[in-house]
Amino acid sequence: MLSTMQDGNLSIATLLRHGSTVHAASEVTTWAGDGGRTSTYAEVGARAGRLANALRGLGVTGDQRVATFMWNNTEHLTAYLAVPAMGAVLHTLNVRLFPEQLTYIANHAEDHVVIVDATLAPLLAKVLPTFTTVRHVVVANGPAEALAAPDGVAVHSYDALLDAASPDFDWPEVDERAAAAMCYTSGTTGNPKGVVYSHRSIWLHSMQVCMVDGLGLSAGDRSLVVVPQFHAMAWGLPYAAFMSGSSLVMPDRFLQPEPLATMIATLRPTHSAAVPTIWQGLLAHLERHPADLSSLREVVIGGAACPPSLMRAFADRHGVHITHAWGMTETSPLGSVARPPAGATGEEAWEYRVTQGRLPASVTARLIGEDGQDVPWDGASVGELAVRGPWIAGAYYRPEPGEDAEKFTDGWLRTGDVGTLTPNGFLTLTDRAKDVIKSGGEWISSVELENHVMAHPAVAEAAVIGVPDERWTERPLVAVVLRPEAEAGAEELRAFLEGKVAGWQVPENWAFVAEVPKTSVGKFDKKVLRADYAEGRLE
Ligand code: ADP
Repeated sequence: MLSTMQDGNLSIATLLRHGSTVHAASEVTTWAGDGGRTSTYAEVGARAGRLANALRGLGVTGDQRVATFMWNNTEHLTAYLAVPAMGAVLHTLNVRLFPEQLTYIANHAEDHVVIVDATLAPLLAKVLPTFTTVRHVVVANGPAEALAAPDGVAVHSYDALLDAASPDFDWPEVDERAAAAMCYTSGTTGNPKGVVYSHRSIWLHSMQVCMVDGLGLSAGDRSLVVVPQFHAMAWGLPYAAFMSGSSLVMPDRFLQPEPLATMIATLRPTHSAAVPTIWQGLLAHLERHPADLSSLREVVIGGAACPPSLMRAFADRHGVHITHAWGMTETSPLGSVARPPAGATGEEAWEYRVTQGRLPASVTARLIGEDGQDVPWDGASVGELAVRGPWIAGAYYRPEPGEDAEKFTDGWLRTGDVGTLTPNGFLTLTDRAKDVIKSGGEWISSVELENHVMAHPAVAEAAVIGVPDERWTERPLVAVVLRPEAEAGAEELRAFLEGKVAGWQVPENWAFVAEVPKTSVGKFDKKVLRADYAEGRLE
């Protein structure tokens, strides 16, 4: 029997219409260095219409790709809405990738147009001659002259194009299963891999971001989106904001601790999201330069394991509640959010809060053991996490031969993340499969060691890798960054670990470094650390 329900199409155009009318007065504020510039969602809606008309004028039709090479700002938000709503596909280029990776990605996606921030134009100019399908570049937030373009590429001023265009655009009815946006994983091995989100997957994911036990984004919020719009669609916050009416604060290029602290104190966001290293930096800055963070009801940290010591420090010293979450580019990215179950308070609540979080109804999970069989959800048995659901990738875009096979099996995404699940669906990750350390036949969790070392008051950052060992095959090595003016040696840190981890796990290899290398999205780059070790730079 068929239902009697309508088949409402879940499209970005409906989000755009909803946000710009029902939440016409909600605001996006982009930081400009010494204050913010603010637009209402009604104004963003009108600008989105102008952008769509302008892009049509440049010949953008069908599902052509429109790339962005931008910071988080009002213009990037406008592109997030206009490009998919007109039926084209938004491709967010990661401005921190190596030139060869950018070339690969832009050509692989066959980008037709690039919208670039003027401050990033010099960076784009270096790679643009290698982008074989790009015909137009639109320069936002500065003069078109900021970009020297190669022959065959026309350069336009964003403001001039939009001023000449009508705000009225007849948004087409795009099928909810059609491509809306694409994002490449930063590619820790091999070439970056393209994930293509549908209108439907973005819609359903936005609902999860707005759910109370998701990220709980609501009309009363003002979310400071520190996670870049080129990193897994800024974790869905821009779309969820147009769904819920939450206002937005966009940091533009001001991502250092000092402007972030000023932004929070001045614009008073209630909510924020970023990878751990951003908040580690902010915490260190606040020690010397206190700032008023009292507006923040919640900060979401994910993308890498959040050290419990960081969560405790923000709670104790600044009254800021950090919520830990797990996800991937391939999972839109929201996979799990660490909210304690009913009744858990005090230390028991903390035990849940430091996990990677609880699975929502739309993320179905398995843990797969080394023998390929499922391992039980008993909070102790370790396996590789596999997931599936309506906002989880089922394939990469135009994969290299064989690339898909290992990642997508029988309808499941193999995450490459290793850990445990409790019977009530809380995930704890011990490692990425490619980072696991096997010492004398036993696993050592690099994440657990890092969390313990980072709890030492002298330690700013610590990253653990496995290094070859004649007797044990592999042993952990800890790369440590000490806080300014703090002192601690290997012996003291080893003693600090005694009793916290099994004696045989306590590392004997320590390297004191000025900084831990970071990936293009701000995570510890263990690939670089391993290369540093192999080439004798971590002795
Ligand atoms: P990249 O692979 O380029 O870093 P992603 O942002 O898609 O790009 O990375 C997803 C991966 O980040 C996950 O597979 C997992 O290894 C890691 N990750 C994300 N959130 C967490 C978390 N809360 N704890 C531990 N690891 C995490």
